[in-house]
Amino acid sequence: MADTVGFIGLGIMGKPMAENLIEAGHDVVAYNRTREKAEELDGATVAETPKAVAEQSDIIITMLPDSPQVEEVLAGEDGVLEGVKEGALVVDMSTISPVVTEELADKAQERGASMLDAPVSGGDVGAIDGTLSIMVGGSEEDFERVLPLFEVMGKTVTHVGPVGTGQVVKAANQIVVALTIEAVSEALVLGSKAGVSPEKILDVLGGGLAGNKVMEIKREKMLDHSFDPGFRVELHHKDLGIALAAGREYGVTLPVTAVVDQMFETLKMLGRGGQDHSALLTLIEEASGHEIGS
Ligand code: NAD
Repeated sequence: MADTVGFIGLGIMGKPMAENLIEAGHDVVAYNRTREKAEELDGATVAETPKAVAEQSDIIITMLPDSPQVEEVLAGEDGVLEGVKEGALVVDMSTISPVVTEELADKAQERGASMLDAPVSGGDVGAIDGTLSIMVGGSEEDFERVLPLFEVMGKTVTHVGPVGTGQVVKAANQIVVALTIEAVSEALVLGSKAGVSPEKILDVLGGGLAGNKVMEIKREKMLDHSFDPGFRVELHHKDLGIALAAGREYGVTLPVTAVVDQMFETLKMLGRGGQDHSALLTLIEEASGHEIGS
């Protein structure tokens, strides 16, 4: 008999991921803190608590904001680990701390279950289209068991190592994206204030070694100053916090990550935490007294 899939956390990412699983024919038991979000999921059985999800599921997926929520849902009162079946598999697809992931994996093991960390990149569009990149930490055997589900939700699915390493790779991804947005912002403001059209700067840089996906995917947002998310500043700030903590844990220096972390902090304090992370451009513009293209 096919595994019943529990799905907890039906936000921007979780809802379309769960919808794709249902569409592919999987039985899904859903829970969200705001119950209406679970009820909106056509074809799913709604559970009252994370514990109740676990009692009815063989594989339990979580897609929650941050470490404290994942800890609460898995190890808290009426949490997944209170109801988890022997041999069940917990798959956390949220972006959280690798250290917290390892602690939760130990707790799952004490209950006769096991855990994979499987954070994603590709944003809301990737979640809707089922084209996410999924980086997975855990045992090979557990990875193979969940692979058919990952292949419904994602396009590039990679087993990167033991538990926690999926989160480490995701932190590395978030460093590169943040620092690239920052570099593109500096290049745009320098060129534009000196009199070159921002479109031309992106066209020229995009054709050489400086070319990158931020220039393609965030092009319109940056040129038009239309910063509806997308991926929110506050979530990227959270992710750089995870990267910096991991750097401290493993003894790695991340000097420029620390600077860009503070720039996201500044944006949050200016009330722009809900904007797309490409709004980092506005900080360089304001500090330089120049809006690109003006
Ligand atoms: P979101 O805030 O839209 O969704 C989180 C959901 O979890 C919400 O429905 C919320 O009601 C629910 N929730 C929160 N606390 C809960 C609790 N204690 N119990 C049960 N449900 C609870 O966030 P999102 O954008 O879907 O992001 C989810 C995760 O995916 C985050 O870790 C984020 O960093 C990561 N991520 C997001 C994107 C993106 O583009 N949005 C891309 C890659 C990775």
